[in-house]
Amino acid sequence: MMAQEPDQKEEQDRLEVREFDDALDTLVELAKAVDEAFPNLKCLRCESEGFLLVDTGVEWFGDKVVDLVCQRCGMVERHSWKILKKAAKPIITD
Ligand SMILES: [Zn+2]
Repeated sequence: MMAQEPDQKEEQDRLEVREFDDALDTLVELAKAVDEAFPNLKCLRCESEGFLLVDTGVEWFGDKVVDLVCQRCGMVERHSWKILKKAAKPIITD
């Protein structure tokens, strides 16, 4: 492996940190939107209240796709990020 010039190494580190921060900001923003949209969020199958929020990295029709994964039964609930973000909140279903 060839040694890198210090300037190049530093630039690479900055880019990695920036990408990580952006990803983290996005997940925090997603979590807030989900909390606001569904204040009484429960799994549609087992009614558990524990979820993992996953930024799938998948895009369709130019929109990000996010998954809520039930930590008890594994049920996956999928949302279009732009639609969820724009929706009037909270989203009441009763
Ligand atoms: Zn479940």
